[in-house]
Amino acid sequence: MIRECMKIPLAKPDITEMEKAYVRDVLESSQLSIGPYIEDFEKSMTKYIGVKHAIAVNSGTSALHLIVKSLGIGKGDEVITTPFTFVASTNCILYEGARPVFVDIDPITLNMDLDKVEDVITHKTKAILGVDIFGYPLDWERLNDISIGYNLSLIDDSCEALGAKIGDIMIGAWADASAFAFYPNKQITTGEGGMILTEDDEIADMCRSARNQGRAGSGKWLVHDTLGYNCRLDEMSCALGLAQMDRIGSIMYKRQKVADKYISELSGIDGVTVPPVPKDATRSWFVFVILVDNRDEIMRKLADRGIQTNNYFPPVHLQPLYGYDEGTFPVAESISKRTLALPFYNNMTDNEIEYVVQNLKEVM
Ligand SMILES: *Cc1c(COP(=O)(O)O)cnc(C)c1O
Repeated sequence: MIRECMKIPLAKPDITEMEKAYVRDVLESSQLSIGPYIEDFEKSMTKYIGVKHAIAVNSGTSALHLIVKSLGIGKGDEVITTPFTFVASTNCILYEGARPVFVDIDPITLNMDLDKVEDVITHKTKAILGVDIFGYPLDWERLNDISIGYNLSLIDDSCEALGAKIGDIMIGAWADASAFAFYPNKQITTGEGGMILTEDDEIADMCRSARNQGRAGSGKWLVHDTLGYNCRLDEMSCALGLAQMDRIGSIMYKRQKVADKYISELSGIDGVTVPPVPKDATRSWFVFVILVDNRDEIMRKLADRGIQTNNYFPPVHLQPLYGYDEGTFPVAESISKRTLALPFYNNMTDNEIEYVVQNLKEVM
């Protein structure tokens, strides 16, 4: 191994001959949108997650937006959520003119601190939007109990948690509606893409119509009964997604193997907190995020050695768009200063993992 030459990216999609064959099949047909692949991709997802409806859309952000819209959330409404997430989680609330209400996070799981949720429920609260951050399942059983008591809708931004479950129930089946995302660094990819999962016929109908220009349930192409969008996912993307779902078991296995190797290599290193593994649930590995002091300096030094890392996530409430003062959500803020996402992808070799860990030790 020539150490000096190793370049290790943060993420890398895992595309096999099967993905290429499925996409080629689309290109050789004349049906590049609204064809058989979107149906099959959606079916594979309803089967895997165990819910009635799956609606493929052009991004995870679109999935979240259409869910918020279909729940009738709008001006004057409040939605409780976490500040420690990707900005799309929260922007989808703003799109419909509602107000995100943040609660601070648990310092171990990095998910919304459910002890703090009831403190911020008001007569304006319409829904709780939970996030399974980095693929760690939020405690949906407990959140469900809270929501029933106050008659609130539940939205799962499960964009980072495809494959996670609580007991035998998959993430994606817990809330009134859930969103997955298929950007190239997610567990499976379609290039760009997303999926809405729901058991509710009405939410499903509204999302299907909204994704397709507000077309009427009648199926008539040029009848539009509501204001819709074009959030359709093309056939090339759906073919790619279907091929990934056809080998989802192997994808999950590979990711678990990389995570296990990292955890064993990193355990016992002073000053490194490895990501938590839940006892009564199964996490899915989206990214591999450790906690360290002097994070920015470590990132710079690793970059000099060809190792790409990232600082997932700066808290949403401190983004210029949101403009809260520092100190508002102290746990999220202090965690955000210490998070370091290490290179993580399906086909990462033991050699590559050892190289990352060796260099991390040296620069710390
Ligand atoms: C990836 C992601 C999204 C949506 O991403 P898109 O790029 O729009 O597909 C939303 N929320 C979270 C937490 C994410 O990680």
